[in-house]
Amino acid sequence: MWDGSDGASYERGGDIRRRLFNLAAALSLVLCVGIAALWVLSFWTAGSMVCNVWHRACWAFAERNLIRLEFHEYREGDEPNGVGFYANPDYAKQSGLWDELRPVLNPPVGMTVNGRPFNRSVHEYLLPAIGLGYRRTEYPNSQRVGYRVYVPHWLAALAFALLPTVWYVRVGRPRWRYVRGCCVHCGYDLRATPERCPECGAKPQAAVGAAA
Ligand SMILES: [Zn+2]
Repeated sequence: MWDGSDGASYERGGDIRRRLFNLAAALSLVLCVGIAALWVLSFWTAGSMVCNVWHRACWAFAERNLIRLEFHEYREGDEPNGVGFYANPDYAKQSGLWDELRPVLNPPVGMTVNGRPFNRSVHEYLLPAIGLGYRRTEYPNSQRVGYRVYVPHWLAALAFALLPTVWYVRVGRPRWRYVRGCCVHCGYDLRATPERCPECGAKPQAAVGAAA
């Protein structure tokens, strides 16, 4: 059975590393598919997830192709520990996240941001336009500070698709070619010439093993 190793790619005793790679690729694929599903859902309803532990809170909000991750600390005794999931269709209708990410798309003449003239730079205009952003938020009532990161669903899904793609090219595709009796390097049908690939010259693992 083709075990995913082609000799050059993996060192001897790389078994654990290979399994970790398989596991990481599988987890990444699950996250990719999950985010893709939430992406579709985000156009119908807004949702949020919160995790409060030791007076620290991690929030994830999502609506209309935009995810906002937030981290902040509570004052002692502010909030109970716990995990929660919420869906809020009204929030989605308001398009709240996009508004806070792009507060001023058509700024009044002479408007300033942090004392500087507002200009439509990459940081202030282009990135928010596709859903990327970072905010440090102060809550005056409770004196706590929150950190918010904005990322569009498609970019998060794309990021989690990278590892499964690498897995497919390095492990999945060669394995599938081996099972079908094809060259693991180029995919050429080797049933007529099992000793050596006429297309790329590679010697199949079975032929190498038989010769040794
Ligand atoms: Zn070949």
